[in-house]
Amino acid sequence: MQTLEKTEPKLAELKTRLAEIRDIQSAASVLYWDQATYMPPGGAAARGRQLATLQQISHEKFTDSAIGQLLEDLRPYEESLPYDSTEASLIRITRRLYDRAVQVPAQFMAKFSRHRNECYGAWASSRPENNFAAVQPYLEKTLELSRELANFFPGYEHIADPLIDSSDYGMKASSVRSLFSQLREQLVPIVDAITSQPPADDSCLCQVFPEAQQIAFSHKVIEQLGYDLQRGRQDKTLHPFMTSFSIGDVRITTRVYENHLAQALFSSIHETGHAMYEQGISTEFEGTPLADGTSSGVHESQSRLWENLVGRSRGFWQFLYPQLQSVFPNQLGNISLEAFYRAINKVERSLIRTDADEVTYNLHVMLRFELELEMLEGKLAVRDLPAAWNERYKTDLGIVPASDSEGVMQDVHWYTDMIGGMFQGYTLGNLMSAQFFEAALKAHPEIPSQIEQGKFSTLHDWLKANIYQHGCKYTAAELIEQATGSPLSIDPFISYIKQKYGQLYAF
Ligand code: ZN
Repeated sequence: MQTLEKTEPKLAELKTRLAEIRDIQSAASVLYWDQATYMPPGGAAARGRQLATLQQISHEKFTDSAIGQLLEDLRPYEESLPYDSTEASLIRITRRLYDRAVQVPAQFMAKFSRHRNECYGAWASSRPENNFAAVQPYLEKTLELSRELANFFPGYEHIADPLIDSSDYGMKASSVRSLFSQLREQLVPIVDAITSQPPADDSCLCQVFPEAQQIAFSHKVIEQLGYDLQRGRQDKTLHPFMTSFSIGDVRITTRVYENHLAQALFSSIHETGHAMYEQGISTEFEGTPLADGTSSGVHESQSRLWENLVGRSRGFWQFLYPQLQSVFPNQLGNISLEAFYRAINKVERSLIRTDADEVTYNLHVMLRFELELEMLEGKLAVRDLPAAWNERYKTDLGIVPASDSEGVMQDVHWYTDMIGGMFQGYTLGNLMSAQFFEAALKAHPEIPSQIEQGKFSTLHDWLKANIYQHGCKYTAAELIEQATGSPLSIDPFISYIKQKYGQLYAF
């Protein structure tokens, strides 16, 4: 074993290099946040260049062979430490990211990044014209590049595996498929039972709700949930997101529809869930790769837990609804709590994933995941994608989009990123959210009655202790097993859906 005198300077050098890379990445995040919130349109071209420059510098610094050497030199030291010690975790996670980053040539990254910008532009101009043919060649190129990216990681079981692995480490096409087929089998009859009944009336949400009051109300709500506004803020944007510049500065964005109350409110709660995760990471990890969420599924579980399991629960609105009524007395003064609760939990067969309710949402995600696999496998050509999309909506959701704008071109995902590895996290997150919530309630059965009183700290503290503080020290599978005592399962989600919606719609 190496002596400590030899090891300490190497560990210190690794940390210094990682902190510098983190600073560059955080600076890029500030530029991106500014681009999406306040930047005037004239700044677009230069901003794109500035972001690309910072990304390139940080990639070069991270893939420097000196980092590889330090990780190699520190291996015996890592092996002498407990697996979950901060130092061993730092070396282990950095090595995992390093090994991945060096597989992909910088030239390829730059080519892919340029292509994604072009593809985004083609989508943005052809979507309003409902012109899939115009974006098809770009998407074909995206598919080719996605396959090329996967092939930098030979030895996979399924070509999507390396892509899935980059956002949901440890998951494979086969493990996701198995969970998803169990889930679909359970969900389809529930959706059938609910949608054969008269739909809930959600007209109370579709009145005029002035923007300033909506923003002020959502601000108050997210603060009550435990979002630390001394270490965060909320601004307006087009497509809401959360971003972190450090553990002390984690920001969210929202958008307001004056003719629909649910949009800003639930989007703010959703992004707050992401933000509280990042705010709760141990400050010991600041400036290192450990200061991130552990997977896209776990990240999404934290946003969905607050948005849905808390934010769309009856108990939450027992507490909050009188406050909402006092902000909007003309719109909601005569609407009962029960009517409002039913409106925010309306289930329907719909076309747009981001607007879908909790029950049908996963059907949207799963069908896209499967279309991605088929494209990557070479079984589905891009030119046949719109027809395949419509066919799947017909069989899975019982509804067919009238146009590609509402169908295969509805959101930006495939047009600004790779094909593959992008969608499973949404549904994994929903499954995990129910499993984590169930474990929190088992440890603290008083949580539901506290929520009715507007007290969220017991739940928040449980999440901090079991999930947030660990950053990405543990894999998603390790975290789930530790926090809930079982591997990831569809059961908690299904029993949550059955219990909640069984009360709203008899089935
Ligand atoms: Zn999210």
